[in-house]
Amino acid sequence: MTLPSLDDPLRLDDYGATRRAFDWDLVTARLQGLPGGGLNIAYEAVDRHVANGRRDHVALRWISRRGDLIDLTYDHLRRRTNRFADALASLGHGPGVRVATLTGRIPDLYVAALGTLKAAGIYAPLFSAFGPEPIRQRVELGEIEVLVTTPRLFARKVEPILDDLPSLRHVLLTGEGGGSIPGDDARVLALAPLLAEASEEWRIPATTPDTPALLHFTSGTTGTPKGVVHVHRAVEVHHLTGGYVLDLQPDDVYWCTADPGWVTGTSYGIISPLTHGVTAIVDEGDFDADRWYSVVEANRVTVWYTAPTAIRMMMRLGLDAVRSRDLSSLRLVASVGEPLNPEAVSWAQDAFAVPVLDNWWQTETGGIMVANYRTEPVRPGSMGRPLPGIEAAILERGPDGELRLDGDGRPIELTDPEASGELALRAGWPSMFRTYLGQPDRYAASFAGDWYRSGDLARRDADGYYWFVGRGDDVIKSAGHLIGPFEVESALVAHPAVAEAGVIGVPDETMGDVVKAFVTLAAGVDDTPELRRDLLGHARRLLGPAVAPREIEVADSLPHTRSGKIMRRLLKARELGLDEGDLSTLEQPDAGGADLDADGEPPGGGARPGGTGGVAR
Ligand code: ATP
Ligand code: MG
Repeated sequence: MTLPSLDDPLRLDDYGATRRAFDWDLVTARLQGLPGGGLNIAYEAVDRHVANGRRDHVALRWISRRGDLIDLTYDHLRRRTNRFADALASLGHGPGVRVATLTGRIPDLYVAALGTLKAAGIYAPLFSAFGPEPIRQRVELGEIEVLVTTPRLFARKVEPILDDLPSLRHVLLTGEGGGSIPGDDARVLALAPLLAEASEEWRIPATTPDTPALLHFTSGTTGTPKGVVHVHRAVEVHHLTGGYVLDLQPDDVYWCTADPGWVTGTSYGIISPLTHGVTAIVDEGDFDADRWYSVVEANRVTVWYTAPTAIRMMMRLGLDAVRSRDLSSLRLVASVGEPLNPEAVSWAQDAFAVPVLDNWWQTETGGIMVANYRTEPVRPGSMGRPLPGIEAAILERGPDGELRLDGDGRPIELTDPEASGELALRAGWPSMFRTYLGQPDRYAASFAGDWYRSGDLARRDADGYYWFVGRGDDVIKSAGHLIGPFEVESALVAHPAVAEAGVIGVPDETMGDVVKAFVTLAAGVDDTPELRRDLLGHARRLLGPAVAPREIEVADSLPHTRSGKIMRRLLKARELGLDEGDLSTLEQPDAGGADLDADGEPPGGGARPGGTGGVAR
């Protein structure tokens, strides 16, 4: 098998045949590599397009909160990222420098990310809505040396803790007011004049496939966020999945709604689309279904990568809002971050008249690992099948959560399509994380033999499709049954009155756990005793009495991570009156929206039911 040459699209037409013939060397060969040898993500994403005749193609189309547009071509991006790398050098930062951004979705975030990679540094995005303490913890853990932020975020969140950030050698301020430097700390500089003085030409140091490139912090859904390190070779997965899963073609206008403060917004909001030479949309504004539809309509977006929370909210707002727009440019919608309920898949396929492709991966995996594909039948509720080049398995777990081992001490693979176990991946794929920063033991413990343990429970049906059961920590054991919260939540969401559901197990002396559900209601639906009875009956009909919730509580909102995931551990801690644990990634809908942005303005108005600040993963 050969893959088409670099500038030809990378399509997956036949899953089985591609999988059988697949070899990662083919992807390595498709990438260009640095002129003098080596591999660098930013070179693959930007410079090589300039050398290969796409210099004037729009790389990033930035839409400001107010609706203004700025188009950055590949050549603009090449020159500005060169300047950023050169500016770092002129400040005395060499290869290995650790640079973080703390900004809203503004062009200089993208410049800093790619410019850092060009300087052979390590790029760490920080979500702009973090408060001072989460910022301090991450800067400390990551030993961040350079922080790129805006004057307002600096004044509100960084300046008060600047003395507690000894690793920081420079703070570079960009955006409105970036020319005037608050305070008198010599470490704090304006970015604009530095870039103006820097050279447009820059020679990328010879990073190798194994040079560290990215530092991501996990979403904190299950506990304290971990610092996950990836290397330049991860670009092989970003590029491959951009073709095989997102089906990116050179003339696509692609929009990944995830904030670049999280791994999806970096892997698929920056790197993957740019390696395919497409135009990527960056919207500074926050989630608002109408705004989103207008962005798709006005920019003729073709491929849209978003998250289940967003799709569920669009679903509850109804079809009229969709039908009033011309969204005919769309040809594919993909989703990641949480399980996508079958109901939401069906609704979205109908609403947008395109395939809606759920896929699964984690910060640790660096890129998409299990996916539905455009050319394969979609099974609503399934996250699909492993990417060609990725071997997945379901490993047997004992009641204590530990893997069961065979006589030779190897994990046992489950093949029964009904059996759920831990989803594992054969170690060694290019975007596999290389460490948990500061936690080498935890890193080692995530591997068993040749397998990387995801910590998620899933099952695989007879045709090889994977079905998410729940996170290992969230699974409920009730009267001898193993119950995945996702199954129960999906049944509840299938009821028209329910907007969102979060399901936990509440310890019970006789049952082990009893299933309890928290639901939010669709707009205009009132919480009445009849409704609750109806919901319980509906759940029993769909799930049977052993699995259906014993109790359903109607809530105004569910706790979400800032990246949009339901925090079941928090529902449970609150239910049981336990310590709430690390809340640094909890969305704060009551605090005026989680995403107080780089301008310090509250997010734009419009439909924001139930606190939606963290919808973009
Ligand atoms: P933490 O590890 O800090 O608790 P997190 O696991 O939520 O946070 P991420 O790496 O952002 O951090 O998320 C990966 C997890 O998200 C997966 O392990 C899985 O539980 C969930 N997930 C992602 N995509 C899907 C999907 N398509 N279906 C089901 N679950 C998904
Ligand atoms: Mg995780």
